[in-house]
Amino acid sequence: MWAPWRMEYILSPKDKDAGARPGCIFCNFPATDPRKFRENLVLVANARYVVMLNRYPFAAGHVMVIPRRHVALLQDLAPDEADELFRAVREVGAQLRAHLAPQGINFGINEGSAAGAGIADHLHVHLVPRWHGDTNFMAVVADLRVMPEHLDATFLRLYPAIAHLPGAAPAP
Ligand SMILES: [Zn+2]
Repeated sequence: MWAPWRMEYILSPKDKDAGARPGCIFCNFPATDPRKFRENLVLVANARYVVMLNRYPFAAGHVMVIPRRHVALLQDLAPDEADELFRAVREVGAQLRAHLAPQGINFGINEGSAAGAGIADHLHVHLVPRWHGDTNFMAVVADLRVMPEHLDATFLRLYPAIAHLPGAAPAP
């Protein structure tokens, strides 16, 4: 089975556009001035969860839903935190369906680097919109990688889908 979440490439702290700031981007980016959310691909940041675009997407609209608290394992979440995370996953998935009209969505968690997590010490859930026949999308992805403005276009396209959520990024 082809499983895109097993091939995770995500911005790591050593990437130049993450700056010199050490530490965890899933903690640091949501803690920045909300005016920086758009450039940091943060769609939502509230006390319980964060929604970010994946900088190296496997399909247009590839987002991550991340618990605000820095935990590595699903089992590290308190039951109410897990409930809140999965309510957010459900909501964001519904919004992706409504706004991007995918034919399917992969929901995936890589727990630990052996499981493919690029950032293994902060749990995150991948949501990857899928279309029949999209196995050719690597060409699109390659295009996205060399043309970062496409990520901003995706941000703008998804913004109306998340604008109603608490902690949504400032309106573009
Ligand atoms: Zn973290």
